[in-house]
Amino acid sequence: MELDALTPAQRRAREELLDLGGERPTFPADLAVDLRDRLEDGLASHAEDLGRGEVAVNKSRLADVMACERYEVERERAGFDGWSPRVAQGTIAHKALELSVFLGGEPTPLDLVDAAIDRLVDDRDDTNGLGAWLRDAPAIELAELRAEAHERVARFVESFPPLQRSWTPRPEARVRVDLCDERVVLRGKVDLALGAPRGTTARVLIVDFKTGPAYANHVDDLRFYALLEAIRSGVPPWRVATYYLDSATFRVEDVTGDLLHQACDRVIDGVGRIIELQLQRRAPREVPNPACRWCPARDACEGAGVWAGLREDLDG
Ligand code: SF4
Repeated sequence: MELDALTPAQRRAREELLDLGGERPTFPADLAVDLRDRLEDGLASHAEDLGRGEVAVNKSRLADVMACERYEVERERAGFDGWSPRVAQGTIAHKALELSVFLGGEPTPLDLVDAAIDRLVDDRDDTNGLGAWLRDAPAIELAELRAEAHERVARFVESFPPLQRSWTPRPEARVRVDLCDERVVLRGKVDLALGAPRGTTARVLIVDFKTGPAYANHVDDLRFYALLEAIRSGVPPWRVATYYLDSATFRVEDVTGDLLHQACDRVIDGVGRIIELQLQRRAPREVPNPACRWCPARDACEGAGVWAGLREDLDG
């Protein structure tokens, strides 16, 4: 890779985020067993009444219940409210990044976006997902989608170093951990994983790409991914990072045993609450928080008014 050809943002990401050739930590060989035992011990009493695969938790569901229990319940009840350009652009952009790794030549960001849309449109097995929506979407919505996804991919291309095959890039890497005799499933889909462990030496970097501002829960999302990857492969990532495409800045955290144990405790707390609420063992608690603004219960919940008042006070 020609270093002189990199933009200042690409160079900064290469030096400070990827830290190629830097020291990498080694972890105990029994780390994954230790983490799994800690999770299963913590969840055993909650999960004993569940059927197989009855509770599936990803980073969003976990973040929702930690923010406000009723918000999580309402979101689960409302379900997915359909595709739109705003909802689909992230999926298209991620597919485009995946293609950028494996397509030859030098496709432009718009070429990649169009190739991603074509792949999904051509997937005839997809009869009610994004592919089906794309096949029937009005031209104006498709144009909007192309524009938004293009913006995202173009920002990635100009600010993140070009992905090298030797880095073992894995866009949209899926991780799954089954717990408590498969009654609880933890799932993740990592935007980008780079590298592979060697023995018990951690050599994987996980990066989540965001548009918009930084939120505190982004740190917890990445710790959740680190935990899943540690249990799945037996060796955790050496580092997790959120990359903010709008500002070409990143927030990194190097993974340690303490960090993984904290992530375990948050999962036990959050998944325990999700199980109690899903089995209707108690009523959900309401905690006013930023999600009040788009919560499905905002018209009926007093918390939305409380949050609006807090915002007014803060905005002064
Ligand atoms: S409006 Fe706010 S407090 Fe009420 S359920 Fe929704 S997120 Fe929770």
